[in-house]
Amino acid sequence: MPTAFNLFRVIAISVVSCLTLAAISHHYLFNATENVVGRSMRHDIAWTGTNGRLEAAHFEKYVARFGALGTTKDAEAAQLYYQILRSRLSTWNSGVFRKFIESSPERLELLNTVTARVENLETDIARIEMPDARKRVLDALSEISPVIEQIGAETFINSMQQSSAVRDDLRYHQELYYWLFIALMLSGVIAIVFTAYQNRSLRLAHLAEAKQADKLFFLARHDSLTKLPNRSAFEAAYTSALERKTGDDQIVIAAIDLDGFKSVNDLLGHAAGDAVLIAVSKLLTAETLNQDSRNVVCRIGGDEFLALLWMPSNAPMSMEFANRILKTLSRPLETRFGEIMIGASIGMATSEDNAVDDLIVSADLALTRAKVAGKGVALSFQPDMLVDLKRRLRLEADLGLAVAADQIKPYYQPKVDPSTLQLTGLEALARWRHPELGWISPAEFVPIAEGSGAIFKIGKMMLDAACRDAISIPSDISISVNLSVLQILNDDIVDVVKQVLSSHRVPASRLTLEITESVMMTDTEKVLDVLTNLKKLGVRISLDDFGTGYSALSYLARFNWDELKIDRSFIQGALCDPMNLTIIRTVKILAQEIDAKLTIEGVETHEQHELLRGIGCDTAQGYLFGPPVPLADLEPLLLGALTGKQTKGKDEKKLPVDLTDYVIAIN
Ligand code: C2E
Ligand code: CA
Ligand code: CA
Repeated sequence: MPTAFNLFRVIAISVVSCLTLAAISHHYLFNATENVVGRSMRHDIAWTGTNGRLEAAHFEKYVARFGALGTTKDAEAAQLYYQILRSRLSTWNSGVFRKFIESSPERLELLNTVTARVENLETDIARIEMPDARKRVLDALSEISPVIEQIGAETFINSMQQSSAVRDDLRYHQELYYWLFIALMLSGVIAIVFTAYQNRSLRLAHLAEAKQADKLFFLARHDSLTKLPNRSAFEAAYTSALERKTGDDQIVIAAIDLDGFKSVNDLLGHAAGDAVLIAVSKLLTAETLNQDSRNVVCRIGGDEFLALLWMPSNAPMSMEFANRILKTLSRPLETRFGEIMIGASIGMATSEDNAVDDLIVSADLALTRAKVAGKGVALSFQPDMLVDLKRRLRLEADLGLAVAADQIKPYYQPKVDPSTLQLTGLEALARWRHPELGWISPAEFVPIAEGSGAIFKIGKMMLDAACRDAISIPSDISISVNLSVLQILNDDIVDVVKQVLSSHRVPASRLTLEITESVMMTDTEKVLDVLTNLKKLGVRISLDDFGTGYSALSYLARFNWDELKIDRSFIQGALCDPMNLTIIRTVKILAQEIDAKLTIEGVETHEQHELLRGIGCDTAQGYLFGPPVPLADLEPLLLGALTGKQTKGKDEKKLPVDLTDYVIAIN
């Protein structure tokens, strides 16, 4: 484009220069021609010269005739021609003729002599009847006449030369006019071609610009990966749909979130994740547009989509639609990476609910609930979800102050050897007593704290409290603390753990850090890196809730785990479904293979305890052995163990704590 622009400039400047040059040349030529014409029209000296010759000849003739015939008439004619000759000579001595005379010094001298001689004849002319006077006149004339004749002839030649020069000049000017005309014609043609070319270029530039503007407009309103409308375009469509909606229509908003998308990204790579998003976008677009061409689907980020659906009023078709989408997305997706399995959760809100002004917010709330309920679930918005949202917002606001106000404290749950019932460890579990709302479960507030960032303060406080409490309990009892994924990914967790251990002088070997299996699904490499650094401090690392996430056995082999904690759902389902027991047995073998201890949590009954003993797991945890309680509640037990049964030991705090009586007492 800049080259074309430069070319236009050069051509435009050239054409303008040509036209200016032509105008100047024309002006010059016009003046020059006018001069030439003026020169050609000037008084002709040849005519004056010829007349002078004739007059001199007439004068001579009448003088001679008077001498021969003596008639008065001839004398008078001779006198008249003398006067005429004098006046002619005065003409020759002035103006253009004089200039011509002066152009040759000899000619000037001749004319001066002739003029003087003619003037000297005046007396003789007056006395022309006298023969001597007449003779002098004729003698003088015999000298004067040839000179006049010569000058007259020269004027003729000069005139001839002048007119030839004028003709040459005019011909030359004509030629110049011809070339000027050609130049003007060429400039005109160039100007026309250039204008046409420039018009075409401008039109093309305009078209390209319009195309670019369209592209930018499209990009501003669409997701670059899937080409679906983005959130702002969706909101515009949503607002306009609500305005256009009549009593016969209802607007349904479906918030769709893919299940297991993170695993696709982690296990198959981001390109495969992108391919899944594109395939899902196509399916969603086909399903929704198939139902009504006014429907809109957008991607609002990550693996989240929103659909705006037009449906007939009073026809509960939204659930039908949601189930169709769930069914479609539960089938393997065809991608260039092969078939990939994915699923979705859907939250929906319809304009007939009238519960919340903003259907997008309502659908989002329903989606949150659907995800909690499990994978592959579709739920419609219910007003109690709004109550949940308000409670969540309140807890989020209050959590910020809760740590500072010392409202969050650790409770400890015993970890026991299931065969001897001896206390082997304590797991610190956060407890929050809200001044107005009462006890809030960590299952509720930990995810909120993770969302608001309060988890860093809470996590550090729990670590600090657990290490401080560890000093007052027997040193062979380990302390387990749960770590959030955010602490592992974002916090300077290695330094924090190191600093807390050293500030309480607790040996690192007494601390176990519990990481939920879902942590491994985030940034596996980074997590493994942090865990390795933590392990270098000497702390033990436990894999919590094993069996609930996407148990990818690969990461079991990639890290030297100290403990596998199998999720409580397995032991709780063991009596009704023998498969659970088989899984526990298999995990036991797996744990042995990787040299990790196996802990079973959630043991509530003696039957479950018996099953465990049969399997031979290392550690057990559950309400049967004791719920999480404040450390003070465990102190009599710990002290009793120390002072009652094992008083003789040297290092009292190292002696084992038998929980048999405690278990009997609490059950
Ligand atoms: P978790 O680490 O799996 O903790 C065990 C949960 O099971 C605890 O719930 C405990 O009270 C409960 N539990 C123990 N024995 C039994 C039993 O026999 N039956 C049943 N039904 N439940 C039992 P809690 O204290 O409500 O904690 C829930 C989750 O919150 C924890 O699961 C843990 O993931 C998280 N959490 C608790 N405290 C913290 C913390 O300080 N930091 C972080 N990041 N997460 C925490
Ligand atoms: Ca735990
Ligand atoms: Ca657990």
